[in-house]
Amino acid sequence: MPILRVIQGDITKQAVDAIVNAANTSLLGGGGVDGAIHRAAGPELVFECRMLHGCKTGDAKLTRGYRLPAPYIIHAVGPVWRGGAHGEADLLASCYRRSLEIANAENLNSIAFPNISTGIYGYPKDKAVEVAITAVRNYLKKQTSIQEVIFVCFDIDNLTLYEQRLYSQNE
Ligand code: ADP
Repeated sequence: MPILRVIQGDITKQAVDAIVNAANTSLLGGGGVDGAIHRAAGPELVFECRMLHGCKTGDAKLTRGYRLPAPYIIHAVGPVWRGGAHGEADLLASCYRRSLEIANAENLNSIAFPNISTGIYGYPKDKAVEVAITAVRNYLKKQTSIQEVIFVCFDIDNLTLYEQRLYSQNE
């Protein structure tokens, strides 16, 4: 069974096979973790992103990692929170699933996720943690190359929620 871990930190520093970016549909960079990833990866990243012609909400696309310790970046587009009745949970779960599918297709072993949609996109953190962990656990029931999934929490609220959800229940 693959390992699920939570840490507090900066996802751009993680030496895993792929880090996931909480991107927007343009894939051309933005604020928050997206901006941090583009700054750390360097200007070559946006050139590759331009060739991808955007990405739909709930989907993800792969690029190289350039100056990051991680050789790959999976750019996932989370939903903007609009009250919860606009398919947000399915779209958020889809981001996690599609990212894992792409990592598996590349035969990658380790992947780090940020807390997609919980910053500028306003998804309630307590609801997002549930969707994220459930989606990842469901995906990992299948045969996959992935052996380690790290949830990288930037803020203490998310860290506390992930620790409670991951370590206080035996599933
Ligand atoms: P979104 O638009 O999907 O909400 P944000 O980048 O605004 O994306 O926020 C997503 C999450 O990423 C937030 O929980 C935020 O605290 C976190 N975050 C911001 N910078 C970093 C970073 N360098 N490493 C990891 N997580 C980060």
